[in-house]
Amino acid sequence: MSRKKNYAMVIDTRACVGCSACVYACKSENSVPEGFCRDWIEQKIQGSFPNLTMELRSNRCQHCEDAPCVTYCPTGSSHYAGDGTVQIDRDLCTGCKACLAACPYDARYIHPIGYADKCSFCQHRLKKGLQPACVTTCPTDALHLVDLNSNDGIFENLLEDRKTTQDIVHAGTGPKLFWLQ
Ligand code: SF4
Repeated sequence: MSRKKNYAMVIDTRACVGCSACVYACKSENSVPEGFCRDWIEQKIQGSFPNLTMELRSNRCQHCEDAPCVTYCPTGSSHYAGDGTVQIDRDLCTGCKACLAACPYDARYIHPIGYADKCSFCQHRLKKGLQPACVTTCPTDALHLVDLNSNDGIFENLLEDRKTTQDIVHAGTGPKLFWLQ
């Protein structure tokens, strides 16, 4: 029996230059409609004047381990896919927006056709053995899809000697995006 995967993403904020290639790759790969996005770039200013630093963060759905979007979805559309990702079954989605209200990361939008949409870690590509479009397109190699259940050492190597932060941890959802400082 094959080992169950648990996908997560590590994002190197020193490598990210904020070019938005990840955003446009995602829009193209996933036919994201005009005016919406599945991933985005955030700027975080840290420190106090005159010792300020700006951190660039590629951001998206956190594929939470205890995802409120799944808990509060009334139809079972939002679900755990078994590979560590949180996915949406469009056929079951009524567009009620309960998941949008439940998500502390503001990671979802309602597609004009009427269903909730968000980052899927390009699950359709993962099934073919490919990386997500954002990871493949990033020109500075800032994005890394990792399997937390793997013993390949990739996750540990990325975190070695680097401080790591996560967002809105106090919400208790078990987010799986890790930003390297
Ligand atoms: Fe759900 Fe939001 Fe967590 Fe993504 S970030 S799994 S949409 S609660």
